[in-house]
Amino acid sequence: MNCFDCPIMCGADREAGEKGVCGVGAQSCIARAARHYYEEPPISGTRGSGAVFFMGCNMRCVFCQNIGISTVGSDPSCGALPADEDALADIMLRLQELGSHNINLVTPTPHIRLIEKAIPKARERGLLIPIVCNTNGYERVESLKRLEGLIDIYLPDLKYVSPRLAERYSGRADYFEYASRAVDEMQRQTGTLELDDEGIAKRGLIVRHLVLPCAVDETRRVLDYIASALPKETCVSLMSQYTPIPGMKKPLDRRLTKAEYSRAVDHALALGLDNLFIQKMSSADSAFTPEFNGYFE
Ligand code: SF4
Repeated sequence: MNCFDCPIMCGADREAGEKGVCGVGAQSCIARAARHYYEEPPISGTRGSGAVFFMGCNMRCVFCQNIGISTVGSDPSCGALPADEDALADIMLRLQELGSHNINLVTPTPHIRLIEKAIPKARERGLLIPIVCNTNGYERVESLKRLEGLIDIYLPDLKYVSPRLAERYSGRADYFEYASRAVDEMQRQTGTLELDDEGIAKRGLIVRHLVLPCAVDETRRVLDYIASALPKETCVSLMSQYTPIPGMKKPLDRRLTKAEYSRAVDHALALGLDNLFIQKMSSADSAFTPEFNGYFE
């Protein structure tokens, strides 16, 4: 069956072993499954988010922190685990046993065909915690509709509005065309964020945006869009954690300045986006990027 699951619609015959532009073929692989403590507070809570890091990605961001797993095969030493739907259901149940607040599917888009089978299996076998779809936002609405009723919390990026910047930094000029419709669909499916009595997310949408150096004007465009298209109570996570990888060219060769981040935060607040997660500037550290060493808790 040819794959048209993401906006690239490359048509790879994955069951026949052909790899798509995302690098994923017949077999999904998991680089790491473990509790993760560096998501937003309602996602990580006190006991951690049960993160499942998949190999492969449908974007090619020049600043990617997870390059060893987003480009399948570029880091054969990472010890990725091939996973079918039963194996993925087992992993979800193990993460629940360890006390995770949720199951956090990281970069799930190329694996939708696996995920849509694994979640019902895990539920049948006793999975009770919410499922988080942690995505770069470059999604087809048709594919998201297949996840309706399976995903409890959507955690998408909204990276760019401008085609020029989306092309320059992620190789996807049509990013906003797809991501804006995807976020709208996510809002329709789950609504705005709902928390339990302990402040842990039960259901809803958190839109993430990473502020980039020399790109606060782009951040303002993204925030303007959120304020105009989504409910004012939409939860927005404005991230300051940009960390340059070795060899980055200007202007991405430095961290964000405090002044840049303050301008971004001030703009969000001026738009009335009060449900805002902000980060300390000290979050810009590669220590917040997990090691993809194949470790399964
Ligand atoms: S998910 Fe991968 S194989 Fe499927 S259309 Fe997108 S790039 Fe191609």
